[in-house]
Amino acid sequence: MKLLAVLSLTTLLIAAIPAPTRDPKIEAMISSVSVARLRADEAKLVGFGTRNDFSETSSTATHGVFAARNWIRSQFESIAKTAGGRMTVRLDTYVQPKTARTPRAVTESSVIATLKGDEPGPVYVMSSHYDDCNGDCTNETRVAPGADDNGSGTAAVLEAARVMAPHRFRGTIIFATFDGEELGLWGSQHFADELRHDGVHVVADLNNDIIGNTHGGDGRHEPGVIRVFSEALPLGAKPALVNLIGSENDSPSRELARYAGAIVPAYVSDFAVRQIYRADRFLRGGDQESFQADGFPAIRFVEPHENFTHQHQNVRVENGVQYGDLLRYIDFDYLANATRANVAVLASLALAPEPPAHAQLVMRHLGYDSTLRWQPVAGATSYEIVWRATDASVWQHVKNVGDVTQATVPVSKDDYILGVRAVDAQGLRSYVSYPFPVRVK
Ligand SMILES: [Zn+2]
Repeated sequence: MKLLAVLSLTTLLIAAIPAPTRDPKIEAMISSVSVARLRADEAKLVGFGTRNDFSETSSTATHGVFAARNWIRSQFESIAKTAGGRMTVRLDTYVQPKTARTPRAVTESSVIATLKGDEPGPVYVMSSHYDDCNGDCTNETRVAPGADDNGSGTAAVLEAARVMAPHRFRGTIIFATFDGEELGLWGSQHFADELRHDGVHVVADLNNDIIGNTHGGDGRHEPGVIRVFSEALPLGAKPALVNLIGSENDSPSRELARYAGAIVPAYVSDFAVRQIYRADRFLRGGDQESFQADGFPAIRFVEPHENFTHQHQNVRVENGVQYGDLLRYIDFDYLANATRANVAVLASLALAPEPPAHAQLVMRHLGYDSTLRWQPVAGATSYEIVWRATDASVWQHVKNVGDVTQATVPVSKDDYILGVRAVDAQGLRSYVSYPFPVRVK
């Protein structure tokens, strides 16, 4: 491996970034996604009557949140049989104390399936929550179908696990269905805290919450779009420094979101990501925020136009309007595309090298070019420098600089935002590492 590359303007091909290379293994996984299985899983989840957190003392076989939990666990256990001993299934159970919003302490129990990768180190998470709400998030008896919020995300996680478990990946993949989202992101917070405590190297969380409906309450219909929400600044960012260097649009979560934006249309026909550059919708939240709070890059997938008469509503007809999160409002072709989108991104991440570690923009002198350096990552056979105008929202240009750990490109660091990503022998790429500026002598 050469240590550094210096590229002159004459050798630099300032090319627009090509579409990602399609990998046949990933194409095979995507083509295995089944609309029929998604439909059956959704029907099963809705069939538990309610998945309200406070229904945990109902029957554990047929009704309530723990009946749903036990069924999800049994599904993962069947899936694990196809993984050649590489998948383990467990519950993440704990007692959530009473809060100002809740009447009593309650047992929470997320279902976690881990598909072990071929190499130690990077971990990739696909998540959803399986608990639900009607008009009262602490009502344990009234029906709460939760078809879209969030039977849809849970069915997607199960189906992604089914089509991916028989394959081998470089990185470890965790398929997580969380309990306790509706009353405060409890399950994901508990699990993400465990990951942080155990020093697990989480490179990405793809959270799925409300991904099954295509008819907005405002009458809009866009079945070819999925929104991806990403936070602007990670916890611990220093606003004064961010303001100085202009890195407010380059959190690791946002680089992950840009990666999803490029991968999804390359693999899923007539389907595209709409980037929403904020952590979540107003007055709402999701389990991706628990990962972000623990310092892990995370994004949220959500349908393009929501219908608020169907979410967190008691099932009823009022003035001729049907309220409630009913199975009949799920568009299963759309849910299948949302699942394929997740499989494409998750498999691309877990097969590729992880993003280059400790990327830095080297400040040695005033000049007309930019020097980046980084630490090598396992599986990378070369690295690419990418850049874009400071007012552009996605990466515009790329240059492969070879198998080096430092490179200089004739692009002004004053006028462009630069980044570096890892590439393997098959042409699979990591998402981009934003290089933190460092002054050196
Ligand atoms: Zn939800």
